[in-house]
Amino acid sequence: MNIIILGAPGSGKGTQAAMISRKHELAHISTGDLLREAVAEGTELGKQVESILRSGKLVSDEVVLQLIREATSKSTKGNRRGWILDGYPRTVAQAESLETVLEEIGQKVDSVIVLDVNPDVIVERLSNRRTCESCKAVYNLLNNPPRYEGKCDICGHALIQREDDKANTIRKRLDVYNDRTRPIIHFYDGRYRIHRIDGTQPIDEVSAAIARLVSE
Ligand SMILES: [Zn+2]
Repeated sequence: MNIIILGAPGSGKGTQAAMISRKHELAHISTGDLLREAVAEGTELGKQVESILRSGKLVSDEVVLQLIREATSKSTKGNRRGWILDGYPRTVAQAESLETVLEEIGQKVDSVIVLDVNPDVIVERLSNRRTCESCKAVYNLLNNPPRYEGKCDICGHALIQREDDKANTIRKRLDVYNDRTRPIIHFYDGRYRIHRIDGTQPIDEVSAAIARLVSE
């Protein structure tokens, strides 16, 4: 079973992808993790990635696609029964290249899951996030506040609001998602079955809804 999960930043898709991958024994493929792993493994491609990242540049679509190709090819080995792609594709061009790669390696997409969350809810969710500078623990003032205001429960260090979690930055990231990533839904429409899920529900309800769809 191969699944693509799409959703705006803050929609909870990373959390859901991790939960689905555990429940259904799928490889959780996220581009951020792939890049970090490639660097850690020191493969030829990993060395390229490291020097690109070190120079502050963005890793090209071509390199990311190569990593995706390797990860999806490997995902049917061992006890994995497929994959869930999280954070890729981000553009229609990437979705098109992914089609070509999957065809080449004899795989196909079974489901596309779209997590729909109202932008105001995302801004509210993310802008209430606070991170411990020291141990990186994450809190949310709305539903998971620290015991003492502004202090980490675990190590007592000061909590900060990351640049990525500031309202202005979030709105910019949402604009990028709307302009570049959302059109993928139309690209997949008619090609695959698209499951739209209300991502504003509590985490467990979202994952139960996804589990029902996946086992249909
Ligand atoms: Zn801490």
